[in-house]
Amino acid sequence: MTENNLFGYKISKPRSISMDSADLSLAHEILDKIPTFRLCISCGGCTSACTAGNFTDFNIRRVNLMLRRGQLETLSKELKDCMFCGKCYLACPHGVNTRNVILMMKELLYEWEQNIDRRTEKL
Ligand code: SF4
Ligand code: SF4
Repeated sequence: MTENNLFGYKISKPRSISMDSADLSLAHEILDKIPTFRLCISCGGCTSACTAGNFTDFNIRRVNLMLRRGQLETLSKELKDCMFCGKCYLACPHGVNTRNVILMMKELLYEWEQNIDRRTEKL
């Protein structure tokens, strides 16, 4: 089908994610260290209370989903806007300490990126 006969619509690229090959190591480590993270029901309360989300594109719910889907490549870029104010934690009906989750994500992502760099150097 050509651009001209799409009647102004666009065909989106497939966005399927293979959970068989996804890297869920970080998500499992965080779930082990911050067990309340398992109680997240993706209600979006943290997102609506988020200070960074009011001023930037930062979306803590999206970050959470990316982590659980193993989409780690762009995650550290997503996290840079968090101000660590802790409002998300106060807003969470299940008491998930999202601020600590983000801190741990940053720490583990740094190690993960270092390992990727080391593996690439060896090739
Ligand atoms: S407010 Fe709590 S339960 Fe709701 S999406 Fe955020 S972390 Fe999950
Ligand atoms: S600590 Fe929570 S509320 Fe504050 S900027 Fe970061 S994600 Fe948003």
